Amino acid sequence: MIDLHSHSIFSDGTDTPEQLARTADQLGLTALALTDHDTLAGLPRFLAAQASVTTLLVPGIELSCRYLGRVLHMLGLFVDHADPVFRERVAELGDRRQSRNRKIMLRLQAMGVSLTWAEVEAAAPTGLVSRTHFARALVACGAAGSPQDAFRRYVGDHAPAYVPFPDLSPGEAALWIREAGGIAVVAHPGRGTPRNFRWDDAMAELKGMGVEGFEARYPDYGPLEERYFLELARTLDMVPTGGSDYHGLNKPGQTLGVGRGSLHVPEAILACLQRRLPGQAV
Ligand code: AMP
Ligand code: MN
Ligand code: MN
Ligand code: MN
Repeated sequence: MIDLHSHSIFSDGTDTPEQLARTADQLGLTALALTDHDTLAGLPRFLAAQASVTTLLVPGIELSCRYLGRVLHMLGLFVDHADPVFRERVAELGDRRQSRNRKIMLRLQAMGVSLTWAEVEAAAPTGLVSRTHFARALVACGAAGSPQDAFRRYVGDHAPAYVPFPDLSPGEAALWIREAGGIAVVAHPGRGTPRNFRWDDAMAELKGMGVEGFEARYPDYGPLEERYFLELARTLDMVPTGGSDYHGLNKPGQTLGVGRGSLHVPEAILACLQRRLPGQAV
């Protein structure tokens, strides 16, 4: 079993990269990818842990993109975190996130919430501040009863203090990933799209932009959805990846590898991905 989607304290997870590596090893996973949102900062520590575990540790990232007017998350698997061009591109994305965070702060203050930037930063154990950290800070300052309440009233997708930020296109993200030696796959398609969304057409278009696969196995999927995406991958000759999207305590009820208990991503997917790595003979 493998897991190609997880988060550490370097984005909005609560486990350190070393803890993730150790847990994956204890669970007997063949491979685990660390795919923090819009940052490479956890990867040096993650890869250093390879010396003490059998699980193959796969360097990754989850890039926030915009596609057809909505947020689309693009996973980059096997990316070279030391690639200077890629590092520069990701750092610039971090700047955009910071300026978006300032706008969220202003909106919260305009709503009468007394929250300071220092309090938000205090909720984020590493440099990256996401809405997860805003939600925690909103709970800590008493403006919300729970993180869910904070998302509902303040920073959720349809809440008043929400400011969208990514204007990265999927094609651009796929190019960045490819140039950094990795493989671009769409994270959790089907989550957050309306029922009538034509993923078959969209995925064919994304494939044309250099995307090589997508998550066909994901904890939130029902059996029909999983079957649909597995079949779509076959039809389009794309790689059906999958992962738990583990966030530690920030997303309770999820375990590495198995998600809510029934997730199972076959090891064979690893070889499918490795065959497509830049520089590999097809
Ligand atoms: P950001 O990248 O700053 O827009 O934050 C997005 C992250 O916030 C997602 O990856 C989720 O982990 C989390 N998130 C978004 N909406 C919700 C929600 N309604 N409830 C809980 N977590 C959420
Ligand atoms: Mn997240
Ligand atoms: Mn995501
Ligand atoms: Mn994720």
